Amino acid sequence: MHPTTPRIAIVGGGLGGLTLARVLQVNGIEATLYEADINRHIRLGQGGTLDMHAESGQHALHEAGLDAEFRAAARPEGQDMKLFDKHGTLLSEQATDEDDMDRPEIDRGVLRDILLDSVNPDSIQWGKYLKDASPLTGGQHALHFADGTATTCDLLVGADGAWSHVRPLVTAAEPDHSGVNFVELSITDVDRTHPAIAELVGRGSLYALGDNKGIMTQRNGDGRIRTYVAFRAREDWLTMYGIPFDRPDVARTVILGYFSDWAPELTDLIRYCDDTMLPRPIMQLPVGLTWASKPGVTLIGDAAHLMSPFAGAGANLAMRDAVELAQAVTENPGNLPAAIETYEKALHAYVLPVAEIASHHLDLMISPDGDKQMLALLKQFDAMAAQGSGGDR
Ligand SMILES: Cc1cc2nc3c(=O)[nH]c(=O)nc-3n(C[C@H](O)[C@H](O)[C@H](O)COP(=O)(O)OP(=O)(O)OC[C@H]3O[C@@H](n4cnc5c(N)ncnc54)[C@H](O)[C@@H]3O)c2cc1C
Repeated sequence: MHPTTPRIAIVGGGLGGLTLARVLQVNGIEATLYEADINRHIRLGQGGTLDMHAESGQHALHEAGLDAEFRAAARPEGQDMKLFDKHGTLLSEQATDEDDMDRPEIDRGVLRDILLDSVNPDSIQWGKYLKDASPLTGGQHALHFADGTATTCDLLVGADGAWSHVRPLVTAAEPDHSGVNFVELSITDVDRTHPAIAELVGRGSLYALGDNKGIMTQRNGDGRIRTYVAFRAREDWLTMYGIPFDRPDVARTVILGYFSDWAPELTDLIRYCDDTMLPRPIMQLPVGLTWASKPGVTLIGDAAHLMSPFAGAGANLAMRDAVELAQAVTENPGNLPAAIETYEKALHAYVLPVAEIASHHLDLMISPDGDKQMLALLKQFDAMAAQGSGGDR
């Protein structure tokens, strides 16, 4: 048994960790969040835009008391979507009403700022890279940081992402390569610099798929277009087989070479990209991963269920995990083992179908006929929506 005010350590200040700190605070429970970055401004570029699902990401923002902040920054029109084949033929186009709040987009950096601004600043310790954590008696843990400091806690929450240092305390599972690699590209100030590209992409996202490849583009809220070029290849292919990311002109030419028979208006997204190109091997934890709950330690977000981005769900799930865990702890602060067990039982059940979708959609979309497969999927969603059964995307 623990004292009724447990000392909670959250390791990692991504969307999951910040949501957890905030929702606990809303419920009157203080936690300490340890983040590796040395301050909130150090990480340039927080990544692209995220669609916030009503039942998970948006629900978490509601529980965090941040509905108004979210609505002010959300971009419902970002749900627009176009699907092309590699010849530049438009196969499907979906336009969104301005007030459609099912899955509005928000830039990740904007969302992180909303959460950061809402959390008691004294509860965040920056520059705290967790090296390792070890169990003590009674469910407590000792945390050792790279700066030589150490602390102990009653509840340790690993919110430290794909390469979690907390995960080994609950499971031996490690991320594995999905067979797909992305290169992340962007074009800044696209409306002014490349109006034809801006018009092609429109207000939301564009997918061009086929030949085991993809060009997947999304408009961000800061006037930028962000493109993920996807290849089916082994994990070390990006760095070992000839894309010199430190020489952008050469890298651009090499990537374009893989799309030489694709429509030039699509490959313009590569041709005119900025010089910063980021290799992103897509990693995932085993689908259906579970573990027997351990006293005093648990995981949220990518640390618990890293999956490919093809379900568009990782950030949404991280935020849902935060709410589920905060609620379990709030309801049972004096019995942390029971709170962890309640949370993890729910977690394992709701993550499984989403992880299956992420894996299945990756296989469908980055395939020889990804364009046709995605078109069929969209028709299936439309049919389900017409029947009023929604359907997971
Ligand atoms: C290309 C791409 C596109 C995506 N698109 C979407 C999408 O559209 N919708 C969606 O819902 N999801 C999407 N995702 C998934 C989403 O980005 C992640 O699931 C989400 O960011 C996970 O949040 P998190 O808080 O668990 O981890 P993270 O965001 O990874 O945060 C982890 C934090 O922990 C810190 N940290 C790491 N190690 C340590 C340590 N040892 N000590 C202390 N701190 C540490 C890090 O600095 C970081 O701040 C996408 C992912 C990718 C790669």
